[in-house]
Amino acid sequence: MKAEDNFEQIKCNLCNSNESYILFKGKDMVHKKQGTFTVVKCKKCGLIYTNPRPKQSIISDYYPDEYWDIGETTKSSETKLKLFIHELINKFSYKLTIDTPIDGKILDIGCGDGKLLFKLKKEGWKTYGVEISELAAEYVQTKYGIEVFNGTVEEAHFEDETFDVVILNHVLEHLSDPTTTLNEINRIMAEGGILVVGIPNAGSFEAKFFKKYWTAWELPRHLYHFTPKTASYLLEKTGFEEQTIKFDNNPNIILSSFKYVFQDLRINPLIGLTLIFPFAVFTSFILSKTKRSYNMFLYSKKTNSGIVDQ
Ligand SMILES: [Zn+2]
Repeated sequence: MKAEDNFEQIKCNLCNSNESYILFKGKDMVHKKQGTFTVVKCKKCGLIYTNPRPKQSIISDYYPDEYWDIGETTKSSETKLKLFIHELINKFSYKLTIDTPIDGKILDIGCGDGKLLFKLKKEGWKTYGVEISELAAEYVQTKYGIEVFNGTVEEAHFEDETFDVVILNHVLEHLSDPTTTLNEINRIMAEGGILVVGIPNAGSFEAKFFKKYWTAWELPRHLYHFTPKTASYLLEKTGFEEQTIKFDNNPNIILSSFKYVFQDLRINPLIGLTLIFPFAVFTSFILSKTKRSYNMFLYSKKTNSGIVDQ
């Protein structure tokens, strides 16, 4: 089989147009998988997406084994140090919050190791998860006693209007057809329910500054690269209103992007990152205040059954 057979050309998921132009060609900076990937922008609506993209039948080849690591797996001391620094930074970063009365049902799609669901369960929510990794799904059920469906949300076939809150944290950009998935989420949500979407901001200052070095492109695992405008349009189109967007002040992506810039400039990354650290923390703080930082959380309310036009 030729390599090209494993890739597919797609139309814009937001407006169905097939007219786009190339923004840039980039590599997998994060997990170093082989290949050069093209990121395009729709001429009609501005949606940014990876095109051509790996077919769903082979996409798992681009996810490294450690992507699915959960719990106490063995890690090298370098990885442990990196995780420690990341967790320390995360402590001071924006936290996803849900400001509604706590007596309802909450669904976390792509719940991973289940830490967020467990926190919500302790707060009094009736918690449910959906997770495509069998290992993670089993882990969350065994460790926290939370019901997790192993598969996609479409495969779960939940009843109409089941959930008061649905969380999609760093999931939407990985989906092959976000419009269809959001229409399904709309169906399973109660009227007035809250949808929380956490995604990288491709319209951020960081994305424009680092260009192909911006690690949150995460090629080719991220199939879509939303800006506040295209994400809002997608939510509106699938029946979610009263959107508010919160911007995170996490400097992790600035630091990891600089690492690749330093590597290309043959500067020792450890020395470079140590020098740049205070700048990265300050910059990400300013960017979050001016709504141009890397990570955004969209809170919206289900209003109707959306517009199914595809
Ligand atoms: Zn479009």
